[in-house]
Amino acid sequence: MRKALITGITGQDGAYLAQLLLGKGYEVHGVVRRSSHAEVSSHRLRWLGIENDVKLIDGNLNDLSCLMRIMQTIKPDEVYNLGAQSFVHSSWQQPLLTAQVTAVGVTNVLEAVRIEAPTARFYQASSSEMFGLIQETIQSETTPFYPRSPYAVAKLYGHWITVNYRESFGMHASSGILFNHESPLRGKEFVTRKVTDAAARIKLGLQDELPMGNIDAKRDWGHAKDYVKAMWMMLQQDKPDDYVVATGRTTTVRDMIRIAFDHIGLNPADFVRIDASLFRPAEVEVLQGNPEKAKAKLGWEAKITLEEMIAEMVDADLARLRRSEDIDPSKMR
Ligand code: GDP
Repeated sequence: MRKALITGITGQDGAYLAQLLLGKGYEVHGVVRRSSHAEVSSHRLRWLGIENDVKLIDGNLNDLSCLMRIMQTIKPDEVYNLGAQSFVHSSWQQPLLTAQVTAVGVTNVLEAVRIEAPTARFYQASSSEMFGLIQETIQSETTPFYPRSPYAVAKLYGHWITVNYRESFGMHASSGILFNHESPLRGKEFVTRKVTDAAARIKLGLQDELPMGNIDAKRDWGHAKDYVKAMWMMLQQDKPDDYVVATGRTTTVRDMIRIAFDHIGLNPADFVRIDASLFRPAEVEVLQGNPEKAKAKLGWEAKITLEEMIAEMVDADLARLRRSEDIDPSKMR
């Protein structure tokens, strides 16, 4: 039985990847940061119904000795490094923590793999945020990077240290440059889920307005369920490499909001309010990826459209709120 180790298993991608690997017959281990909120932290695994099928182990990306012991005990065949401080906006509030976890944490995992599980294949979760102030209209693996947040700077380090360990030590280490990917399991700090949750609340009469930052920003949004397949495919290749994973279509935040509100039959103009405090010190205005290499070499393609994904997210939020909140039918819209 093949063994996989996932850091960040309690996050959106970790949960979907664990589900994918379990379906393929893997023994799935996940590193979790010890917290007093164990119940809360595994809510995504619970939502997918796989909480009891994965093996969770306490660990931290900043504790090399602990990561080494984990590699020594489990001897994984594949290691997916998805753990990070992953919210761009927070990275200005916590730049050093972001550097320690999102940048140096990658070297800790690579070192633990190199020393204790040298035949394991390694996946690094890189990010389209590394393109930042874009140097080409459509970004591919050869587009120069220009990070625009402490998060993106940290991810850039993680990307290059992965490339460097591949070239220095011949490790099977691949980096997936994933464009934004969402799902009903996305945290509410990210814009899609903030919008779908608000649309559902507005529909049910639980909220009256939606404060937003820069709605002219454009993103290439795909579905996390599609994107975790690309991660796995990268590690099945004979040779490690770097791949852009994207849909190739870019949409404004404004249009994404419209898609969500169309789904519930309301006009966003009646609810959206621009809030200056939600703008960022430096913005990534537009991202649009070129997924041709992933298609040609991995046979990977995004399947779920933005419209389908936003509808799924709004419906999941409506269902969740109907279960958890006191809804007053007279206030529903
Ligand atoms: P990111 O691309 O990793 O930063 O993903 P986010 O989902 O956090 O943000 C996507 C884009 O939406 C960025 O350009 C944000 O500036 C923009 N945006 C506009 N209003 C909001 C908001 O209220 N919350 C968030 N998270 N992003 C917003």
